[in-house]
Amino acid sequence: MKFQYWNPQIEKMPRADLELLQLQKLKAEIDIAFRTPFYKERLTKIGIKSSDDIKTLDDLKKIPFTTKDDLRDGFPYGFLAIPKEDVIRLHSSSGTTGIPTVIYFSKDDIKRWADFMARCIYSTGCTKNDVFQNMITYGLFTGGLGFHQGGEEVGMLVIPAGAGNTARQFKMMQDYGTTVLHATPSFLLHLETKMKEAGVERDSLVIKKAFGGAEPYSEDTRKRIEALLKVDVYNSYGLSEMNGPGVAFECQCKDGLHIWEDGYIAEIVNPDTLQPVKEGETGELVLTILCREATPILRYRTRDLTSFYTEPCACGRTHRKLRRITGRSDDMLIINGVNVFPSQIEEVIMSMKEVGNNYLIIVEKDGALDKLTVKTEVNAETFMDDSRHLNALKEKIKETLQTSISISPKVELQESGSLPISEGKAVRVIDNRPKDV
Ligand code: ADP
Ligand code: ZN
Repeated sequence: MKFQYWNPQIEKMPRADLELLQLQKLKAEIDIAFRTPFYKERLTKIGIKSSDDIKTLDDLKKIPFTTKDDLRDGFPYGFLAIPKEDVIRLHSSSGTTGIPTVIYFSKDDIKRWADFMARCIYSTGCTKNDVFQNMITYGLFTGGLGFHQGGEEVGMLVIPAGAGNTARQFKMMQDYGTTVLHATPSFLLHLETKMKEAGVERDSLVIKKAFGGAEPYSEDTRKRIEALLKVDVYNSYGLSEMNGPGVAFECQCKDGLHIWEDGYIAEIVNPDTLQPVKEGETGELVLTILCREATPILRYRTRDLTSFYTEPCACGRTHRKLRRITGRSDDMLIINGVNVFPSQIEEVIMSMKEVGNNYLIIVEKDGALDKLTVKTEVNAETFMDDSRHLNALKEKIKETLQTSISISPKVELQESGSLPISEGKAVRVIDNRPKDV
């Protein structure tokens, strides 16, 4: 495989140099943080007076974690480090888990973000010859403009298609010769069915690659999208608190996401003890941004669960790789005392070929007990089968889930296309239990 690098000097920088660079940037970021009301108070309280008190990367650990609640408490300007007249844009999170948080950008912040995004896109093998259809929500959500700027920086022809309206999306792919797509994995999963419905032949399209991010998805889901659409799928990770997309991205090896360590300091901690996990163990990702002057955020608890690869990547990049994010620590469902992550259910469902491309997890009360129902679409062929086959499939899903999550759910099979599809992040779990229980 021939690898290409947007910024070879940085991407392949020896680790010792990279860590020195991180320390330099961390010190600068600490000075920036002192200009915000929030960190001025917090850092002073723990005896840090300036960046001179940060002598090694390890000194970062003296600083307490920043949480989403801190960001909400600091709303609207508690985390702003530059004069308001120097702010040129704001973005906010999609508010999946409550009130959204706001992030401000200076002109240079936007340039730096675009450069990180260009690095990501280029590392998958894209060039200025590509036509990039950005099929994701624009607006306050960072996925739209983040990818848009990165694509332009690479020099690709960027189509700001936005989410939804699949018929129009196919028309654009045909008209402009789209080679690269960006959408949520759940939307990508559903494109092939829509293609068939619209009578569009795959041969009439020249798509080669797709970027999928903004929500967790399993390796089986990736393989499924790749087989359905006949494209290479690359995982994209980011969050609005850390600019948005561009934090970590898969290279051409498609095996783990390089986290750009000249832009972010990544730690992985045990979400209960908040102590660092052992090398290679799974825990919660904690991020410190090193590339933003308008809104510094130190040691942010992302709630996202992942682990570091311990081996270097074949592409030659020295920036460490993260494993696929399996979900958020606050995604965990407790069902009759058993801990279940929605990603465990997805893994089982997507590994079965009879099963379709959409599913829904419902939790409700049944008397004193919790009841788990998994509704899953089955492909058209299977759905037409006689009821004995369908019942056998239901049993197979039930048993496999029982082995994986130690709970035997109720399984309902549905016709392909019958479950709701969201244009933004997919809603996979409906928890109807009363909140105070
Ligand atoms: P919100 O926190 O309101 O959803 P964001 O739009 O900033 O707002 O979403 C960021 C979150 O989306 C991440 O913290 C993570 O939970 C999820 N996410 C983003 N990219 C991925 C990915 N590639 N894999 C798994 N989860 C992802
Ligand atoms: Zn790599």
